Amino acid sequence: MDVKTIKVGNTRIGKSPVVIAGPCSIEGEKEFISEVAFLYGKGIRIIRGQAYKPRTSPHTFQGLGEKGLNIIKTAKNMYDICVVSEVLSQRDIDKIYDVSDILQIGSRNMFNYSLLKDIGRQDKPVLLKRGMSATIKEWMLAAEYISSEGNDDIILCERGIRTFEPYTRNTLDLSAVVAIHQLSPYPVIVDPSHGTGRREMIIPMAKAAMACGADGIMVEVHPHPKAAFTDGRQSLDYGQFDRLLGELKL
Ligand code: PEP
Ligand code: MN
Repeated sequence: MDVKTIKVGNTRIGKSPVVIAGPCSIEGEKEFISEVAFLYGKGIRIIRGQAYKPRTSPHTFQGLGEKGLNIIKTAKNMYDICVVSEVLSQRDIDKIYDVSDILQIGSRNMFNYSLLKDIGRQDKPVLLKRGMSATIKEWMLAAEYISSEGNDDIILCERGIRTFEPYTRNTLDLSAVVAIHQLSPYPVIVDPSHGTGRREMIIPMAKAAMACGADGIMVEVHPHPKAAFTDGRQSLDYGQFDRLLGELKL
């Protein structure tokens, strides 16, 4: 099936491979601005800007919330970038809409049908991550919840599924990329950070994703992964990110 092209700033997702990158979460203004500066310098134009974090434990860092959204605003005034930011709940839609170019629905919310319908009424592209226990069919039906409300600018993101294998955080299902391209017009990108949970696996799995036809990747990058507030174990440092870009040869 022909892949639908989705325009985000000057990038056409679905037309040529895209690399979306950024920290797992926004940690502070100075931190985020310097991360954006590095990524912008590497040619990245779509940045992860996450202010609301879905965390397994309620006792861990939950994101900077509105303060994080203001940081996105500042970064966008300084750099010609687009941002993808997660909408964790209905009550955040308007606030995130104001600063974000792509509205992200995270894995945990893929089955939140009322949120999907509300996102379907927005006129901005949506990044729909695969539920960690969702079949390909359920994932595609989640996309239909969005499109049936009018918003057809959907980018799918394979981020790994839960299996019996604990070595990796999730099992990255690259066959889903092939299936989606056979069954659906939406572009599909791959997140090898959440898909493996292991920094050392990101480059090989990103290359594998491109080899099976993914329309791009989304990776977590942090200047000092060991000190990251969230997901440092699966974040590339700057040198590794540079190597990734070199090895992908996009
Ligand atoms: C994320 O990309 O920020 C995230 C939380 O990922 P997921 O929803 O896939 O767990
Ligand atoms: Mn993360």
